Amino acid sequence: MEGCEECLAEGTQWVHLRMCQSCGHIGCCDNSTGKHATQHHRESGHPIARSAEPGEDWSWCYVDEEVFRLSRG
Ligand SMILES: [Zn+2]
Ligand SMILES: [Zn+2]
Repeated sequence: MEGCEECLAEGTQWVHLRMCQSCGHIGCCDNSTGKHATQHHRESGHPIARSAEPGEDWSWCYVDEEVFRLSRG
């Protein structure tokens, strides 16, 4: 099952999922109780998380605090 690893471990709910572009870690967004995507960034220093929601193709850079889209093709 795909989901926030920490939330699954703790048994809490998440709102949206973000995927770390550096290592593929799945964490929940800042609207979720755990904010585990941000926590992962703080612990790992990995700078970019992209949306793991269906139909969403944006990424978030924690360093620049900016949304961007990767160009495709
Ligand atoms: Zn979480
Ligand atoms: Zn990572």
